[in-house]
Amino acid sequence: ERFKEGLSKTKEKLTSALSEVFEVDRLVDLNLLEELEEKLILADLGVETTLHLLEPFKNKVIKGEPLTTKELKRQLKEKMLELLIEYEKPFPPSEKPSILFFLGVNGVGKTTTIAKLAKRFKEDGKEVLLVAGDTFRAAAIDQLKMWGERLGLEVSHQKEGSDPSAVIYQGLEKAIKENKDLVLVDTAGRLHTKYNLMEELKKMNRVMDKLVPKENRVNILVLDATTGQNAISQAEHFSKAIPLSALIITKMDGTAKGGIALAVSYKFKLPILFIGLGEKAEDLLPFDKHAFINAILP
Ligand code: GDP
Repeated sequence: ERFKEGLSKTKEKLTSALSEVFEVDRLVDLNLLEELEEKLILADLGVETTLHLLEPFKNKVIKGEPLTTKELKRQLKEKMLELLIEYEKPFPPSEKPSILFFLGVNGVGKTTTIAKLAKRFKEDGKEVLLVAGDTFRAAAIDQLKMWGERLGLEVSHQKEGSDPSAVIYQGLEKAIKENKDLVLVDTAGRLHTKYNLMEELKKMNRVMDKLVPKENRVNILVLDATTGQNAISQAEHFSKAIPLSALIITKMDGTAKGGIALAVSYKFKLPILFIGLGEKAEDLLPFDKHAFINAILP
């Protein structure tokens, strides 16, 4: 229900775009598939994903095998489900300490997502440490400290302009010493400055390599669904710098561009862990691909 409600704008867009295609049950021809192709691309599924989804149907029609629109819709949903790979390991990891390393450009909702998850983990009885790895903006450090106070969690931080790798080193040492379960690391997200964010992230990754085994780490890229196709280029940037493990897609509630979830997940072969459907902690929902597909394509 929550998925349905939160994804209503995406659903409206997809349903109205596809209604002409699926309205009457009839035999599928190449024209219909072309129309469908255009509509899926416009609904933010992206060219690659759309072509991949429709290829088997095109082949069928070219071979002259009969296919009805009803059957096409059913199989299309099935194919969409296959596209969405699932996160295979336990989340959060159970080793102590485990690190959740959050990446993403400014404004996507990284800090609030960290806070929402930290709250959840704390309620589950985990010992959580927050690390203020965005030292570029004083406001980012303050925002995380504010969340720490609200949630009753410690925040490892240094002053603005400090080396983020030093901050993360200090945070991890503390987490190891104090036997914390989870370390949630906030990072900077400025893409358009002379300073090289990607080099900075690589260096942070190397520091983590020294202190915590890779298996205990999840590198999570946070994307804002409202940015649509821009999310693809963000994923391109970050995946070049750091091996990504999973995605969190925020602000699905206010947008008709939810189709982007399929596009990014497919293109980068990354599972979606959570989606954001609002600003409150309970608005961050574990991603359920069946609920998602049923919500956007009823
Ligand atoms: P950061 O710069 O990436 O750390 O972004 P913030 O965490 O500061 O979030 C930017 C804004 O997005 C804040 O006003 C959040 O409340 C809002 N936000 C985050 N996630 C969601 C979401 O899932 N839905 C909505 N509607 N707003 C969100």
